[in-house]
Amino acid sequence: MSKKIFITTAIDYTNDVIHIGHAYEKILADVFARFQRNLLGNDNIHYTTGTDEHGTTSQKAAEKNNVSCMDLVTKIYKEDKEQIDSLNISYDRFIRTTDEDHKKQALDFFKKVFDNGDIYKAKYEGYYCEGCEAHKTLSELNEKGQCPNHPTREIQKLDEENYFFRWSKYTRFLKDLIIGNTLVVLPEGKRKEMVAFLDNGLKDITVSRPKYKVSWGITTPIDENQVIYVWFDALINYLTEGIEKGFWDKDTEIIHFVGKDIARWHALLWPAMLKSAGYKVPDLIYIHGFINLNGQKISKSLGNVIRPTELVSQFGVDAVRYYLLKYGPIVEDSDISLDNFISIYNGELANGLGNTVSRIAKLASISEFDFAEYSDPQNVWEKINKKDIDEFRIDKILSQIWKNLSELDHHINEHQPWGIKDQEKLKDILSYEVHEVRKIASAIKPIMPDIYVKISKAFFSGKIQVSDILFPRISG
Ligand SMILES: [Zn+2]
Repeated sequence: MSKKIFITTAIDYTNDVIHIGHAYEKILADVFARFQRNLLGNDNIHYTTGTDEHGTTSQKAAEKNNVSCMDLVTKIYKEDKEQIDSLNISYDRFIRTTDEDHKKQALDFFKKVFDNGDIYKAKYEGYYCEGCEAHKTLSELNEKGQCPNHPTREIQKLDEENYFFRWSKYTRFLKDLIIGNTLVVLPEGKRKEMVAFLDNGLKDITVSRPKYKVSWGITTPIDENQVIYVWFDALINYLTEGIEKGFWDKDTEIIHFVGKDIARWHALLWPAMLKSAGYKVPDLIYIHGFINLNGQKISKSLGNVIRPTELVSQFGVDAVRYYLLKYGPIVEDSDISLDNFISIYNGELANGLGNTVSRIAKLASISEFDFAEYSDPQNVWEKINKKDIDEFRIDKILSQIWKNLSELDHHINEHQPWGIKDQEKLKDILSYEVHEVRKIASAIKPIMPDIYVKISKAFFSGKIQVSDILFPRISG
């Protein structure tokens, strides 16, 4: 039996619907899951995404809209799911932190950590950013006293009784975990950042808020006047589904995909929580950068939000997947724009992939030759470096395949099959080109599942058919 792999993305706040900035991570995790299923023959994959529905941001959004918290988060949950589904994301569970099984797991987990002596009551005096749903020290704020990630929000000054988690107790444990690569943190730059953060020393962290401040949350099992702090609650979502489906044990490789703004919660807080409650810690955390649009951060207050469904209806789902994976923030932040997307679409998709495939389909379909049945993923590894999958470098895989496509286009121009009279020679040339298209189709299957189906319909039987237009040109 193949190795069990549990893949998760972050879950999104329900104060607003997700935008293309959130889409990248879902696609990246999806492609990794599909590589395992489609090309590595591993069906023991479980993939979760979802919504983080408690906390002050959701509560305030509900108050502002004059609806109940539950009505608001359910509305956003449905819209988020529609956005994610438009991207053809093959998740196994879309988890909500208001789901009953999750609430039960969160209570059980909190109690375990409390019983282990790692939760105590104390006073918290300091700052809080509601955008991050996180406590802040002065050094984490900019010179104007704002959160750098949420400069338009007012920083809250808190003075309240909370329960705290003995995070500092786990400093040594976390250092050994990350430096010893028991928990792999990728890319390397982010791993160094996490170690540096540990070197500065961890402070114990609040794991509850008083109900007179935040009422929308899970009441703690030890004090009915407090709700579980939204991050402590949200991180447990992974465990909820992992335990239920048998994907949280020593035989499973647990991989979290997260953005750089929430790296610490996943690489440093979550493993300490798991250790305290007596569970296995994750094996790998992949931390990606942010997408900017026309050189600006994507945000509601800047009015530049684009939803995935808007891009999908203009360009098609596989073009969106391609563009974000090839030019997205796999290591550093990346900048995208509609103009750039249109030019990449026409140059690399309509022209590069679409035109090359259609030229070969045309030549092979009029030739009357039989090219024998094809079953993928034969020879697909000529096109893909497996190491790139392990390191999540889908951008590198795409660059390699597109280099191949241009060589293939060059091959057609050089040999000019339309002028070859010698039938045996013609069949040799066309066979090579047909096989190259077949291998390329199999290689891009996890990345562009719909395009794969279109190419395979035309190319995977003995008689090659004229293919549908894969990417109709778009005018700018
Ligand atoms: Zn913030």
